[in-house]
Amino acid sequence: MNYYGEYVTRLIEQFGKLPGIGGRSAQRLAFYVLNMPKENALALAQSITDARERVKYCSHCCNLTDTDPCPICSSSKRNKNQIMVVESPRDMAAYEKTNDFRGVYHVLHGLISPMDGIAPEDIRIRELLDRINGDTEEVILATSSTIEGDTTAMYIARLIGLRAENVRVSRIAKGVPVGGELEYVDQVTLAQAFKSRLDMNIGKDSDNEDN
Ligand code: ZN
Repeated sequence: MNYYGEYVTRLIEQFGKLPGIGGRSAQRLAFYVLNMPKENALALAQSITDARERVKYCSHCCNLTDTDPCPICSSSKRNKNQIMVVESPRDMAAYEKTNDFRGVYHVLHGLISPMDGIAPEDIRIRELLDRINGDTEEVILATSSTIEGDTTAMYIARLIGLRAENVRVSRIAKGVPVGGELEYVDQVTLAQAFKSRLDMNIGKDSDNEDN
């Protein structure tokens, strides 16, 4: 039954297409928008239109951008030969906030997940392989340490090994969270942290440097 008339029904249907929004939430959002001041509702509609029409994928790193290449790929301060592979623009933003990484990114827009029907060709792996050339120094696989993240990292590492064996391929270390208490860390994380341990030789060498 169409209780609300065509326009409201259509608005509810559109909200219902968003991830995690069921029928009730879609109704709530539709009525919320209808009760907003008109200028706010129009600004929302306009920002969706603008974002959809103007935002594109960077032709180098596949990140979302207003300009192509994106600001990171066009920056002269970034090392174009060190490529960090991430799952999403949000992950890229998280690494960028650390201010530690001076290379460039490659955004996959997903992870390989046979359970969800996501195959390698559904994410931006082809574009990554096309970027790797004789100048590439390192590809850092910075996908999450989930089954999908590990599967995707393994898949990419194998392909790079076949095509460009001189390129260093690394995986971000897995470990205990900063400030985390060891007793609350799960065993898998702890075991990974142990395996990914870094050398920390303090003593003779540093004494010599002081002299
Ligand atoms: Zn880019």
